[in-house]
Amino acid sequence: MSGTNQRIDGRRLWDSLMSMAEIGATPRGGVRRLTLTEVDRQGRERFAAWCRALGLTVRVDAIGNMFARREGRDPARKPVLFGSHLDSQPSGGKFDGALGVIAGLEVMRTLEDLNIVTEAPLELVNWTDEEGSRFGHSLMGSGVWAGVFDHDKTRALTDLDGVTVAEALEKTGIGGPEAPRAFPADAYFELHIEQGPILEREGKAIGIVTGAQAQVWYDAVVTGQEAHAGTTPPAARKDALVAMARIVDLVDRLMRARGEDGRGTVGQVAVSPNSRNVIPGEVRFSVEFRHWNGDEVDRVDAEFRAEAEAIARACGTQLSLHRLFRIPPQPFDPACVDLVRKAAARLGLSAREIVSGAAHDAVYVATRIPTAMIFTPCKDGLSHNEAESILPEEAEAGCQVLFEVVVERANAPR
Ligand SMILES: [Zn+2]
Repeated sequence: MSGTNQRIDGRRLWDSLMSMAEIGATPRGGVRRLTLTEVDRQGRERFAAWCRALGLTVRVDAIGNMFARREGRDPARKPVLFGSHLDSQPSGGKFDGALGVIAGLEVMRTLEDLNIVTEAPLELVNWTDEEGSRFGHSLMGSGVWAGVFDHDKTRALTDLDGVTVAEALEKTGIGGPEAPRAFPADAYFELHIEQGPILEREGKAIGIVTGAQAQVWYDAVVTGQEAHAGTTPPAARKDALVAMARIVDLVDRLMRARGEDGRGTVGQVAVSPNSRNVIPGEVRFSVEFRHWNGDEVDRVDAEFRAEAEAIARACGTQLSLHRLFRIPPQPFDPACVDLVRKAAARLGLSAREIVSGAAHDAVYVATRIPTAMIFTPCKDGLSHNEAESILPEEAEAGCQVLFEVVVERANAPR
């Protein structure tokens, strides 16, 4: 890297990432730090202790979002926010989310080392429950903060054991007094691993994230008729699983018809009665499509509905499609994206523009304040997996870009 002489400490960043990964460590090298659990509390405590040691003021809002503040020279200026999430998937990796939070901490430490006071205050954020794997609602903390989700309804969500978000906050002592809502802030930056293969494949160090994909999600049910596997001839069959299999193939075909940018997935299936000698009478499954272009998502939505209906009918079955939501594409703020682009160039880091394939807290935050994201590569594009892996120099490069954009935004003339 070239460019600046104000350098973050890559070694310290890596050591803190490894230290955070001890909390909820799994035998196969991953992390299990489910949101609002005792393990989550331990991770937050370690993070808060690091922040306090730097003299940062740590606030926690009622949904558990943490904000570690460093004052600026000008108390009238709105803070520049940056961060990510410390919760993980049930068998997650060490870097999904943690990289953005711990890199944010390294930015704060570097400023302290170099005795730099920015004009605007800075706030490092740990959003609650980004993953959604416990309460079924991803981007929970940032969604409540941004006003996308209702706070009371969110508190009433339950996990598989019937524990509500409110009870989990209470039991772990994680929730704070502050109302969880968007406060005036100047901008938000989030560093995250790509969780896909593009940067690695092209040998790029930095992804300049221009926005997030549009998505459409459905719950689908095919209803046929349960019948004896041995006595029912082809013409009399109403096999719900055969209909579903052809619909899965349709999802794949619709995706591939859109080339490199297409995404279409059936990831969840429940067959009933799930008995080897009974023709399946009912299949429930999930369907989702994503694309960076919102019009393309609308087109695939229309094509999918029509063709899936036709397939179900041809199989003598009925399809009921419930559209859960359609999220429009979320473009990031051009000025913030430009800061990322220029910082990478100044540092001599190879970079490319990229659209986020995954949802991130930044997507909801972007509905309230100017936002951008920085991606770094991960090995084999693998994430939501214990084998998720990155190199220390990849983390360092991403953190250095984060440092540059945060300082530049916080010192920009008003
Ligand atoms: Zn994440």
